[in-house]
Amino acid sequence: MTFALPITPPSRVAGLVSGKPSLGGGVDLPVFYPATGAQISTLTEDDAAAVDAAVLAARAAFDRGPWPGLSVAKRIEVLEDCRDTILANVDELARLECAATGLVLKELKARHMLRAASNFRFFGEYISQAAGQSYTQTEGYMTYVTREPVGVAALIAPWNAPIALATMKIAAALAFGNTAVLKPSEQTPLALARLVELLQEVLPEGVLNLVNGRGTVTGAALVAHPGVDLISFTGGTETGRSIMSAAGRNLVPCTMELGGKSANIIFASADPDRALDGALQGIFSNNGQQCLAGSRILVERPIFDDFVARFRDRAAKVRVGDPLADETEVGPLASLSHMNRVLSFADTAREDGGSLLIGGTRRDDLGEGYFISPTAVLARSNADRCAQQEIFGPFATFIPFDGVDEAVAIANDTAFGLVSYVWSDHMPTVMATTPRLRSGVVWVNTPMMRELRAPFGGFKTSGVGREGGASCEAFYTEEKTTTIPL
Ligand code: NAD
Repeated sequence: MTFALPITPPSRVAGLVSGKPSLGGGVDLPVFYPATGAQISTLTEDDAAAVDAAVLAARAAFDRGPWPGLSVAKRIEVLEDCRDTILANVDELARLECAATGLVLKELKARHMLRAASNFRFFGEYISQAAGQSYTQTEGYMTYVTREPVGVAALIAPWNAPIALATMKIAAALAFGNTAVLKPSEQTPLALARLVELLQEVLPEGVLNLVNGRGTVTGAALVAHPGVDLISFTGGTETGRSIMSAAGRNLVPCTMELGGKSANIIFASADPDRALDGALQGIFSNNGQQCLAGSRILVERPIFDDFVARFRDRAAKVRVGDPLADETEVGPLASLSHMNRVLSFADTAREDGGSLLIGGTRRDDLGEGYFISPTAVLARSNADRCAQQEIFGPFATFIPFDGVDEAVAIANDTAFGLVSYVWSDHMPTVMATTPRLRSGVVWVNTPMMRELRAPFGGFKTSGVGREGGASCEAFYTEEKTTTIPL
């Protein structure tokens, strides 16, 4: 069996600096279609010299270009043009995204591309409302505070939702007057390369630049560059440690949106059908590759057996297959090595004394693509590796609990702290639980509801800093205090 390509991508993809192809200089990197395993394009890697040129272009656009000093009204117009550009090209961008990620095309069109467009409108609306401060406490003086752009932003994105995640960074950086150098994941460069190209039509020269390549080469050169004034990173926790060290050496601010191992706590007082739908969505949407996945499903003991049985029945019916088919719910994993890593956790779970509830195998019947069956294991305890390590696939780990105290203790017994989910129709149970959960986001009786105005980010090793309205304003601007005698 084989699957048709969503689009014929360009045979070679390169970075873009001041609207022109980047210098490259690095090795050629293959780009694969995860549904077939076939190479579909070649990425030109940018070496340190190419990264230097990109940062200098962004620097020149910041120091000498119109962007940082543009009126808010004018900047909002340009952000609206960015939004319109995405909306006018949803089909092409979604197909390119599908070709490199294997994400389900219908989902990419309905959710990711619309989120990308709305990121630009959101930050345009946000800056239109931004308020200032002034003080006259000291007689004879007036002091006022302005927020000014920071400078050149290095924006580093992962492969699991490239456009949706990167546009949050691009829109925020640009809305507050910064210029930017974007580095997408080397695995999934296609749609972002096209987006950056399209946006050159509406942005002044050098405002948004693109470099490509491996993290250890292109990414490392970018975050170490002395011309970079801030770093916004989304990716794995170990990479975050390395990037934060580089930021520390140059003393530049950074935000880190990192990994997760989120607890999905289902009390006996939950609406069982809603909780079941939420648990399935929490672990199987986006092909299971989500930082905010509800990957540890904690179920109160009186309903545990019944809930697990129903979950298994539903998981067995989840439609795995062609990312282009409307009925597909889970597509392939992003790469061969990632698929093998995810599958290895089925053995890890058994070695640790757990048992496989469903799945744990490659879907060989779907050809050479990186497809696996929706998988769930019963952990022996929360200390098991499949309960502690981020697996990042359609792979749920079940653990029973008794009462609020044990639920909270298990939920918090992790190095991560990105998201928690609580399912209960009993308000005292909800209120006894949510304040004690050590995570940056808590969703109650809903699987995933991102409010762009609200801070999003993690406690503990899930992150440093937040994304969202006011959090981005604080991060992407410098405050300046000016005092004048009256
Ligand atoms: P990754 O850390 O391997 O790579 C992310 C990006 O960093 C890529 O562009 C990569 O090339 C680059 N990179 C790698 N090493 C680098 C270095 N030394 N210097 C500079 N850049 C470097 O992550 P991934 O595998 O692409 O993405 C999956 C991870 O991202 C998961 O852990 C997931 O939880 C996390 N994630 C977090 C959020 C969030 O909002 N918290 C959202 C999505 C994904």
